[in-house]
Amino acid sequence: MRPETLLRASALLAAFQTANGAPTSNSGGNPPLRGSEDLLGYSTSNTLTKEDTDAIKFKLVPGQKDDPRDGVYLDFEHAENPQPIRGDKGATDPGPRNYYYDKINSDKLAPPGTDNGATINAQWPMGLSHNRLGLDNAGWARQENIKVMPAATEMAGVDMRLEPGAYRELHWHVAGEWSIVLNGTCRIQAVNENGETFIDDVSKGDVWFFPPGVPHSIQALDTGVEFLLVFDDGAFSEDNTFLASEVFYHNPKEVLAKNFGVPAAAFDKIPTDELYIFPGTPAPKDIEAQNVTGEGGIVPKSASYSYHFSEQPAHEVPGGSVKIVDPLTFPIASNFSAAVVTVKPGGMREIHWHPSSDEWSFFIQGQGRATLFTAPDEATTFDYRAGDVAYFPKSNSHYIENTGDEDLMFVEVLQADHFSDIALGQWIASTPRQIISDTLNLSDETIKSFKKEKQYVVAGSTNLTSLG
Ligand code: MN
Ligand code: MN
Repeated sequence: MRPETLLRASALLAAFQTANGAPTSNSGGNPPLRGSEDLLGYSTSNTLTKEDTDAIKFKLVPGQKDDPRDGVYLDFEHAENPQPIRGDKGATDPGPRNYYYDKINSDKLAPPGTDNGATINAQWPMGLSHNRLGLDNAGWARQENIKVMPAATEMAGVDMRLEPGAYRELHWHVAGEWSIVLNGTCRIQAVNENGETFIDDVSKGDVWFFPPGVPHSIQALDTGVEFLLVFDDGAFSEDNTFLASEVFYHNPKEVLAKNFGVPAAAFDKIPTDELYIFPGTPAPKDIEAQNVTGEGGIVPKSASYSYHFSEQPAHEVPGGSVKIVDPLTFPIASNFSAAVVTVKPGGMREIHWHPSSDEWSFFIQGQGRATLFTAPDEATTFDYRAGDVAYFPKSNSHYIENTGDEDLMFVEVLQADHFSDIALGQWIASTPRQIISDTLNLSDETIKSFKKEKQYVVAGSTNLTSLG
């Protein structure tokens, strides 16, 4: 018998003896691993105390004593010892608990009274994703997909950083890739099935799209770059892309030699492992120097893989601004429609839903909260911060309220041939008054004040802790 097998066998024997009331040895004053049967059941020596809970010191935050159905935002970030209490609901929490989570997720610790049941989980902080670190400090990438957000089946996302001059290696994938640059600048290039070539420099706020199978690469320019990638498949994994290094390494050298019409020795120094994210020589400033054109010519402007969204002015609305990029102006990305939304402090992206697609969202700046309502009666409120992913299934209603004191900015991405939503306000205001009054028991005066125009982002008081 091997020693570890012996050890396991003797432990099992000891456990068996203990369970059967056999005396347990207690040499050296160290208690045995298990107790005895004396601990079972009714005991006359019970002396229960409440000293644990008596020690809790806390102060409720503004709004916390209000009617739970008011559901005001509770600022737990600046509370010393936040407690799961809303009005007359809930009670103190002596722990164990993670204060870091509790402080930034007040709508989880003390949910509004309007929350009910269980929706899907509509939140994934990229900060909880495994970070894949690139070679030689060249960058990193972390992703959200169905492994961490099982209900997010239509889209997946990647947050990637490249240091100046670093590459995301030449590659292709089965999914379509839509991207928005979060900061910095990079050069992107691709070659499609017609042999048409594409190269462009993009910067913060610009978007690109690479169709399925079309090989491409990304190289950071002087400032480095960080960008968000969104894929049209919730099961996409950044770890499963077709890399240039791998396609060379996994074909026989004899075949490579025949394919390219050069001696096999020409491939003696190809990488023996993937590069993925790695440092490179700086790209020439003049993009023309890298403009390779073959018999296919260049990708025509109408089918361009980039769209300089950063130069599109935002459409101003009372509570912030909105700008949309979808196939109506960026046709190659035929299934990607997106809105970049800015919400001023106190403002709110109005209650709405998207009739034709799930929504995959990423928080770029600030903080906000959303309630996801799913038929028949499930509702969950989530608190989001910059770097978080949100996911709202098709036709499920949601809003996004700015809960911070700076502008909130996020991007809503849909799988749709144009960006669309149905706004609760516009629907109700555009329905015959008698129907609304009979259904919701609202006064005529109230109904008359509703706006028939879509608001996108409404303005509001920056004091979120009391009703207006
Ligand atoms: Mn890619
Ligand atoms: Mn939305």
